[in-house]
Amino acid sequence: MNKPLYVYDDSLLKYRFNSTHPFNQMRLKMTTDLLQSAGLLNENDIIKPREATDDELLLVHKKDYIDAVKSAGEGTLPEDKMESYGLNTEDTPSFSGMHEKSRMLVGATLTAVDAVMEGRADKAVSLAGGLHHGFSGRASGFCVYNDSAVAIEYMRKKYSKKVMYVDTDAHHGDGVQWIFYDSNEVMTYSIHETGRYLFPGTGSLTERGTEEGFGFAVNLPIDAFTEDDSFISVFKESLEAAIVKFKPDIIISQNGVDAHYRDPMTHLSLTSETFEEIPRFVCEMADKYTDGKWIAVGGGGYNIWQVVPRMWAQIWLAMVNMKPPRGRLPESYLDKYKKKSPVDFPVNWEDNLDDYQEIPRRADINEKNDSTLNRAMLHIES
Ligand SMILES: [Zn+2]
Repeated sequence: MNKPLYVYDDSLLKYRFNSTHPFNQMRLKMTTDLLQSAGLLNENDIIKPREATDDELLLVHKKDYIDAVKSAGEGTLPEDKMESYGLNTEDTPSFSGMHEKSRMLVGATLTAVDAVMEGRADKAVSLAGGLHHGFSGRASGFCVYNDSAVAIEYMRKKYSKKVMYVDTDAHHGDGVQWIFYDSNEVMTYSIHETGRYLFPGTGSLTERGTEEGFGFAVNLPIDAFTEDDSFISVFKESLEAAIVKFKPDIIISQNGVDAHYRDPMTHLSLTSETFEEIPRFVCEMADKYTDGKWIAVGGGGYNIWQVVPRMWAQIWLAMVNMKPPRGRLPESYLDKYKKKSPVDFPVNWEDNLDDYQEIPRRADINEKNDSTLNRAMLHIES
């Protein structure tokens, strides 16, 4: 079996809306530094990203939108046009070189895809990607181009692969879902906090696809304040059933870690236990059902000091079949980042849970999630 590959280059940090925006790719560098300081990621595991071409972006994005992103990044797009393409919102404002910097993230995901499709690796990870809210003709939710959707269409068109998309970000993977909503050649699976109080508001159980694609969109909207045990059981049972039903050739997983209890943007109550488990279960599914073929991308994650690097490190460790490390993080990593951190910096791999609040409605929440799971299972198995 070929060893996994890790796509990274400092140039990927340039995707930045402005200096105070919560989407901060410094988390990619921190994750890479953490793994390297621990001796768990070597230079020869890392491959540099290529750029995505316009033709590749056109696999899912509209030409007028790509042209608008180019002009917006040069500062020449009129205000009314900005609005119609979602490029002047507080979430997704235009920035200098927007097109070039956004397509690099797509190129990074395609670099992981190429490595697996060309047989250089069975598994590859590109944490720069996972921009699941990007629509074919409009920016949304911190996402300009939708790297996962481009990657899926690229594998489908160029390699005739049946692709399973698995999204464990706290937010619904709406962009990817809508792009493939009428297709029976791609299955989109998203487990997320219910859209009742959270962006983008979609992802209900009843969104199941349309026309030929009916039954090929799977949604597990879970309750706010869901904890580890309930999340893990709902996730494992529904995902394996969906994979068995669809029989994909390959899995691409989006690994947003904003469902962590310390993430400032969502209301789920998951700890490092879940984020150790997710990639190991996806890895197991790939080994069992897709001949080991698995591509992982990043996604949401807005507590870059306390959460993202340790949680994302687990994706790579799952790929190289390593158990979750325990105890103190490497000293060189702590030396580099602890003093820069504006908040209490974690020193261990696992969460210490000092500030974890017990959830009083636990029984209610678990019961609701079980009922959501049961309804989803009826859909999947019908
Ligand atoms: Zn998210």
